Amino acid sequence: MDKYQKIEKLGEGAYGIVYKAQNRETNEVVALKRIRLDNEEEGVPCTAIREISLLKELKDQNIVRLYDVLHKERKLILVFEYLDSDLKKFLDSNGGDIDEWTIKQMMYQLLKGIAFCHEHRVLHRDLKPQNLLINKKGELKLGDFGLARAFGIPVRSYSRDVVTLWYRAPDVLMGSKQYSTSIDLWSAGCIFAEMASGSPLFPGSSVSDQLQCIFKVLGTPTEETWPKVSQVPEYKRDFEIFAPIPLESLLPKLDPLGIDLLKKLLEYPPDKRITASDALQHPYFDDLRRKEQSTDNLATSK
Ligand code: ADP
Ligand code: MG
Repeated sequence: MDKYQKIEKLGEGAYGIVYKAQNRETNEVVALKRIRLDNEEEGVPCTAIREISLLKELKDQNIVRLYDVLHKERKLILVFEYLDSDLKKFLDSNGGDIDEWTIKQMMYQLLKGIAFCHEHRVLHRDLKPQNLLINKKGELKLGDFGLARAFGIPVRSYSRDVVTLWYRAPDVLMGSKQYSTSIDLWSAGCIFAEMASGSPLFPGSSVSDQLQCIFKVLGTPTEETWPKVSQVPEYKRDFEIFAPIPLESLLPKLDPLGIDLLKKLLEYPPDKRITASDALQHPYFDDLRRKEQSTDNLATSK
């Protein structure tokens, strides 16, 4: 730890405290995450260390780089690339009002990061605006990847706040243990809507309230909208029945293509939900992809 000089505390996350720090030798600024584990007397489980060490290989433009994993006695310290801010702070500082082009760029980078991780068989499982780090160049990178798998999704965060359920997929809320890549795309849909409206789409306060928030917007699921829903472990026959409300009426800022993509991200049946790589090909991103290609051409023709 003597290698790093702590500069300031950045936040208390779900798994521990995050500090801004500087490498004494190279002067490089990093983010240090000190993981606190519930069973700290027993030390850090080796499965967690193995799991986390794998993440060092996950290198992509839209993933926060994990430079190093330091394991000292009963503590685990993760050394990450430092970024200026996160999407939550960015939304708050703009009063929840960000322009459509920025929303599209953020969404595209979010989906690229998710696609990369899914290609490498890593699920995030806890995507939310606070875990999406951004810098002044307008780059967005996924943070906290794979931690949920190494440590489990915590019920309470380090600071004892209840961990938010707002971005959790309905299948997971109903007790499905078949975690698949689709759970991250649900979260991406929730984040998309939040960028467009400035407030969380489904701000539930408990598991049942969370489900009700979802049902009030998308309609209570039926065998028609979600085949085999009644076989999901905690499905209840007496869920209150709500009719769906059109997403366009909630999100006037999104154009019809944006609404179409959002609907595909918020599909009830997990196996019908759009994949990250398909979402990147959605016509909503046509103009962005064209722009990307023309700047690529410009770069290569120089
Ligand atoms: P949570 O799990 O509650 O989102 P985190 O553990 O990810 O919290 O970190 C808490 C906060 O610290 C983040 O929301 C972010 O503002 C900041 N943070 C985390 N990692 C970094 C980083 N690599 N660079 C800059 N700030 C970071
Ligand atoms: Mg986090």
